[in-house]
Formats: sequence, structure tokens, C-alpha cells
Amino acid sequence: MTISRRMFLAGTSALAIAPALPNITIAAPVAAVEAAKPSTTMWIAGHYGDFDWHVFEGKNKLDVLREALLYHGHGNGEEVAEMLTLDEKELAKELDLLGFGLDRAQRMDGLLPDEVEPHHWIRAGFGASCSRCDGECYAHDGARAIGTEVVCEECMTIPDLLTGGKWDKELAEERLTDWFVNHDCDEASVRKQMSRDFDPDLIPVDLWQRCLAEARAEL
Ligand SMILES: [Zn+2]
Repeated sequence: MTISRRMFLAGTSALAIAPALPNITIAAPVAAVEAAKPSTTMWIAGHYGDFDWHVFEGKNKLDVLREALLYHGHGNGEEVAEMLTLDEKELAKELDLLGFGLDRAQRMDGLLPDEVEPHHWIRAGFGASCSRCDGECYAHDGARAIGTEVVCEECMTIPDLLTGGKWDKELAEERLTDWFVNHDCDEASVRKQMSRDFDPDLIPVDLWQRCLAEARAEL
């Protein structure tokens, strides 16, 4: 690659002002890590029905399986090596008996195992513990990753839903209408009870009014 004079100058001037920016010592390494995102191949392995799944990284499935079996205590190195000499069908049967599963986690590719946090599990379509109630929850059961938080369906508030897609917004509207119906359209009472879980002011006024009107029509 040839670097034009303009690029060179832009580069040097960026460098020149960089140290003057706040938090540069934090910002710089993050940018560097992102630029050099490794091409990782991510997997998850654990026992069906148990919340003991763990992330692994590797290009070769058998190598990853070896690591995963050892990690989960299914024998010593020799025993695991022996198990891995079985043909595909026998191996699958053996793993079935153990209730052990290994799956690709494509949507985690690019992360390193140490970087994987609960919200990554939800974003990848798997389960994690809810950041609010600690309950086990799954993406397919309505759990969401909101920022770096995992929020199960029960813990999802109306403002949370409003950050989501079309269906979430509709659900938010339904829930808000239900609040009013359940409180006989007493706004003060709704606000008071809502405040225990979230700030009612996070609900847009027009939505508030619309749902209130709907609830009044229902009463
Ligand atoms: Zn929860």
C-alpha cells in the first residue's frame, strides 16, 4: 500500500492530537483490539438440561471436543483420546449417553473465549442468567440482551420493550394499557407502582395518552 502525502499528514495530525484527548489510554487499546479482531471459531459445550455450558475456541472440531470433554471432567487425557478414536456414529452415541453436546456458536465468532459475557450468549441465541433476577433464561423464551445486560421476559419493563422491534413495541403498548385497566385508569396509582421497577417518565407522553384512552374505552 502506498501512503499519499495527504493520508500521511492526516495520520500524523491524528497522532499529534491523540494524547490531548481524554481517556486516550483506554480508547486506544480498544480501537486496536477491534481493528485486529481475530478470526476465531467459537463453540459451546455442556450437558443438555444443565446450565453448565462453556465456550471454546478452535478450528478443528475434534480438538475442541477433546478440550471440552476434559474441561467437563469426562475422563483423563488418555480416556478422552480413546473416546475420540471411535467412529462418528459411535462417538455420537457415546456423547448422547453422557448427555453431552457440542455446538458451533457462529454468532460468537470473532470473540475470544474470555471476552464472552452473558449478553453474548443471548445474542447468539442461547441461554444465560438474567442480570436482574438471576433466573435462567433463553433467547427463544423472550430473553433479550439490552446493552450488556441480559433481561428475561418477566424482568422486561415497558421502557426495555420500547427499545426493541415492532413486536416488542406492541407488547409495551398492551402492557401499558393493562396497567391502566388494572388500576381503573388511576394514573397516579399506575405511576406510583411503576416507579418501583422503572421511571414512568421514560414512557413517551403520546404512548401514555393513547394507552390510557384505550383502557378507558375498555372499562
Ligand atoms: Zn429476570
